[in-house]
Amino acid sequence: MPVSDYLVTIGLEVHCQIKTQTKMFCSCRAGFGYEPNTNVCPTCLGMPGALPVLNEYAIERTILTGMMLGCRTPEVSKWDRKNYFYADMPKNYQTSQLDLPLCIGGRVPLYSWAFPADASVDTDEPVVRYVQLDHIHLEEDAAKLTHFGNYSLVDYNRGGTPLMEIVSAPDLTSPDETYAYLKSLQQLMICGGISDADMEKGQMRCDVNVSLRPRGQKELGAKIEMKNINSMSAARRALNYEIARQAEELDRGIAQVQSTRRWDDALGESIVMRTKENAHDYRYHTCPDLVPVHTETIVAKVRGEMPELPDARRQRLVQQYGLPVSDANTLVADAGLCAYFEAAASSSQAPRKIANWVINNLTAALTEKELSIADCPVSPAALADLVAITEEGIVSNNQAREVLDVLWTKPGMSATDAAASLGYRKTDTGALEATIETVLADNADMVAIVKGGNLKLVNALTGKVMKASNPKPNPKIVTEILMAKLGL
Ligand SMILES: [Zn+2]
Repeated sequence: MPVSDYLVTIGLEVHCQIKTQTKMFCSCRAGFGYEPNTNVCPTCLGMPGALPVLNEYAIERTILTGMMLGCRTPEVSKWDRKNYFYADMPKNYQTSQLDLPLCIGGRVPLYSWAFPADASVDTDEPVVRYVQLDHIHLEEDAAKLTHFGNYSLVDYNRGGTPLMEIVSAPDLTSPDETYAYLKSLQQLMICGGISDADMEKGQMRCDVNVSLRPRGQKELGAKIEMKNINSMSAARRALNYEIARQAEELDRGIAQVQSTRRWDDALGESIVMRTKENAHDYRYHTCPDLVPVHTETIVAKVRGEMPELPDARRQRLVQQYGLPVSDANTLVADAGLCAYFEAAASSSQAPRKIANWVINNLTAALTEKELSIADCPVSPAALADLVAITEEGIVSNNQAREVLDVLWTKPGMSATDAAASLGYRKTDTGALEATIETVLADNADMVAIVKGGNLKLVNALTGKVMKASNPKPNPKIVTEILMAKLGL
């Protein structure tokens, strides 16, 4: 039977590195891009007798995340050891949270702008629906293993980095929703300053599980899990593949067994790793080295740090700057771009034009040069100035694009100076009118043709005025004056 005759149930476990200066249980520096095995100490190397010390800031950020997502924080939260032996975890256990995590329940909004571009959703509605969460707990990240032919290298710099695990209920129903869930969650993390949530850098990773059952059947089908998916589009591809695979097997009468598979994005298929029979038994037990956390004062402190959430921000952009909903959606979907826009728009008379420039010209230039908005050489103030001189008529839209090119190579220059360097200055109307008079007198034959009704030659006359002028005026203004002088 067709795939649409099956009900699809998807659950996600999202791991998110928290942006902290130091690791979860020691004072080693946390972060990306350092010489391997330089940010380590006896605690994060799992040396016998070394004792952990809690990173309070990581606990605060986790509780803040829970607050943003409507979770409940229990009065007391505790730490548990999850036992397993692997080279990336030198203690042979991971310090995690089992039954009293920092956040319980809650829900993640699926923002309409977070769906893939080819999914059909009503983008006028800010939130399509909410996905229920099971809980959020805090743990430590494992070290990083890099595999070569017959040996592997391990870098313990990452080992012990605070890692938040956001566990959803089995409440997602399609690959498109899963994509939107990850995108919404990513923007919420950036919004709250909790994580940069860059999936390419491994700051956010996810495990997905999916089961199928025929419509009408109550109990869920066997859960198949896919581990360590590292992009939103990979999650969508993996789920599309896995749903089709399971449906095809169910059609042929092959029952599914609970198992873990590995998604190979390059190959475009999932490969079975282990089934339930050989699943891990982690033998969790309460960590004797860490006292439980009494959360009351932390909750009270964090309450004052609630950021503006993306749907509220979208509404504000529309109201405060008069932006069309589609522009507000685009800006809210990228917290960095949105911050840039607000910095430029705050002092501008033309915020809608600023949004246009940010969304179109600036984004296109950034994409072409493979830069992120954080590395954009054109400052928000310079862009606001560029829009201002365009609005004043000192440069036309096309000339403004040339000015943008100059600003790109000369960070720190104002748009007015960049325009002047190209010969574009505020038009001296008196001088311009004199030039126009001369051009009209010198081209009486063309003037006669235009007056006879052939307006195509107006462009040619504008061109002649432009050529005769220094500094270069805005061609739009030249045409306006020309038309007026010709009585058109
Ligand atoms: Zn350490």
